[in-house]
Amino acid sequence: MQNYNPEQYLIEVRREFGEHGGVAPSIERSSTFTVMDPSIMPEIFDGLRGPEKGGCFLYSRHFNPTVDVLNRYLAAMEGSEAAMSTASGISAIACTILQLCKCGDHIVSSDTVYGGTHALLKELLPEMGIEITFVDPTDLDAFERSITEKTKLFFTETMANPTLKIANIPKLAELAHSNGLKLVVDNTFTPMIVSPIRLGADVVVYSMTKFINGASDVIAGAVCASKDFVYQLMDLHKGCIMLLGPTMDPRVAFDIIQRLPHLSIRMREHSRRALAIAEHLEKLDAPVNYPGLRSHKQYELTSSLINEGFGYGGMLTLDCKTRDKAEQLMMVLQNEHRFGLIAVSLGYFDTLMSCSGSSTSSEIPPEDQEKMGLSPGLLRLSIGFTGSLDKRIEQIDQALKEIGLI
Ligand SMILES: *Cc1c(COP(=O)(O)O)cnc(C)c1O
Repeated sequence: MQNYNPEQYLIEVRREFGEHGGVAPSIERSSTFTVMDPSIMPEIFDGLRGPEKGGCFLYSRHFNPTVDVLNRYLAAMEGSEAAMSTASGISAIACTILQLCKCGDHIVSSDTVYGGTHALLKELLPEMGIEITFVDPTDLDAFERSITEKTKLFFTETMANPTLKIANIPKLAELAHSNGLKLVVDNTFTPMIVSPIRLGADVVVYSMTKFINGASDVIAGAVCASKDFVYQLMDLHKGCIMLLGPTMDPRVAFDIIQRLPHLSIRMREHSRRALAIAEHLEKLDAPVNYPGLRSHKQYELTSSLINEGFGYGGMLTLDCKTRDKAEQLMMVLQNEHRFGLIAVSLGYFDTLMSCSGSSTSSEIPPEDQEKMGLSPGLLRLSIGFTGSLDKRIEQIDQALKEIGLI
């Protein structure tokens, strides 16, 4: 299982060319598509014809040829039967959940998830009659104890935002399946590094806004799953992506297609630099957290889940204890040393830094933040790959000394 190489599948097995043999794919911008014979139209609506049944496209909120190229690449990378791209990561998550859960159903979710996902689960879905129980993502017993007759799915992030706790995906999948539930995994922090479908997950969701696109210039998401589930999402009568409408634009799909071939190179370099910085900070006795450190309490588990050769990811955190200290450190790192940028989001080629408790996790109430182990002074860094690594290490070393954190 660990020998899965997403890079090989993406680049060697699944290569597509443009309409005229272009080395880049063509962009199909039509919103609608003609048919030669009007009798074909009702057959498309009835699901008797489609992109894979006679090459019949209908309308670009349904299927679009350029978006489909990206979908096939994503499925190849993920080792899933199919994939569907969406307008954002949060819409991929929301549509997946709404497709699987109806009013009266119940979800067991990791309590350590992206702020927007937390708000969706804790505030919006209960208003629609979908109940949530939050549990520690590392506590398998808590997942099991929380299952009720109404439970439909487990939700977790592979690497939790922002505490970087790692979910035991094979064990969670086993537990979910033995209880007739689906396991949905948000793999935004670890594309290529972890392949949750290969580890037993039923659905993988992504914010492609982050590492996958890698340039912080588009908002995009994806759902990777069985063909059957993707067709459910796109069903003309009951599909959540089709009917709630978070459609990916073919121009955005093209941009992401052009960046996928270097995703593996980028992930390796994010990982290499994050590990080097984390090891240096550990030597200085700085309060660093990185799952690739041998001293990390989930190092063994993480090592058992990752695909070989991509490292442990580009995310690390530094616990500055107070928000004041974290903000001071970010100011010095950005404005004096040009180490990185104070900004939310992640997966950019430059380092991005934010104090999670008062930014991307601020939708989560302080008492819940405490429960999930999110300190108010937790500084989250998405380590970029610009500039010289030695210089970057020197910069963070200096900054920590200047504000008295080491
Ligand atoms: C950013 C993020 C999302 C939301 O994605 P958008 O593309 O902003 O809609 C979901 N999950 C995680 C882990 C994220 O980091």
